Amino acid sequence: MSSGSLSITLRRPDDMHLHVRDGESLRAVLPFTAARFARALIMPNLKPAVSTAEQALSYRRRILDALPAGTRFEPLMTLYLTDRTDPAEVDRARASGCIVGFKLYPAGATTHSDAGVTDIRRVDAVLARMQETGLVLEVHGEVTDPRVDIFERESRFIDTVLAPLAERFPRLRIVFEHITSRAAVRFVLSAREGIAATLTPQHLLMNRNALFAGGLRPHHYCLPVLKSEADREALLGVIASGDPRFFLGTDSAPHGRAAKEAACGCAGIFSAHAGLELYAEAFEAAGALERLEAFASAYGADFYGLPRNEGRIRLVKTDWDVPASYPFGADVLIPLRAGERIAWRIEEPA
Ligand SMILES: [Zn+2]
Repeated sequence: MSSGSLSITLRRPDDMHLHVRDGESLRAVLPFTAARFARALIMPNLKPAVSTAEQALSYRRRILDALPAGTRFEPLMTLYLTDRTDPAEVDRARASGCIVGFKLYPAGATTHSDAGVTDIRRVDAVLARMQETGLVLEVHGEVTDPRVDIFERESRFIDTVLAPLAERFPRLRIVFEHITSRAAVRFVLSAREGIAATLTPQHLLMNRNALFAGGLRPHHYCLPVLKSEADREALLGVIASGDPRFFLGTDSAPHGRAAKEAACGCAGIFSAHAGLELYAEAFEAAGALERLEAFASAYGADFYGLPRNEGRIRLVKTDWDVPASYPFGADVLIPLRAGERIAWRIEEPA
């Protein structure tokens, strides 16, 4: 431990919601995650979407090939659910040994989700098979109807899609991804067994004012969009309570600067450069630093039925300056807190 600074040592954590893209972009961002997390659940929204076990296995191979030499990191895979997904794909996924779920994107919900599901009932046979085999459904929980207010899309999704779905498939294991609102917290707390949620650093650390602080802030734009301070307080409340149904999923989503700073900028916040450190800030602010380890390193693994990781990682309370950008192929990436400071940094335990 460095002289006098506060530090905590955690079991090596898992990021249960991560976008790493492909090709050069993959090689640019993956080392940040591999330096912190032993495993991550890799989102399948490439173009074309990763919708079959065969595609996921080849994507997994590309991820392993992109790791810096000597790095140990395990990508956990999930398949992109589409209207045309064959129920037999569930069995192929199960047999693969490294695919842990299917991701539901309502069609049009976010980056590259146009291949998503147009009506949840169209995939009933797939969901029934998942329920049988124990694969997890990861849900982007927003309706996509443009008439619904953007700040209400998550709560509307709960009422019209998620709650009925959880009842129709009473044994289906579901992760409500990147929850943002009081309504989502309430839903998970009162839900039947087998329903959990991931929380991102941005939704714990910022409210929607961050989108408009002194001007339009495209690097704070993600989906689901940042919500009110009361919503953020509800999220901080559950992490402080140590409830095992809520665990870490950064939703780090890299886009080049040109795609973010545009007349119609992409949704997504890149946070992998500080994917654990930002949570330490949030837990410290919530007065719950002692709860961070279980949130980051136990509850997600437990929900997915995976062994907890063996290694350790240390977080030291020492400020560091976040670079203004990181290389990202031919473009650059603007990270969360670019040009500002983060209060915690990581260290391998001595
Ligand atoms: Zn995501």
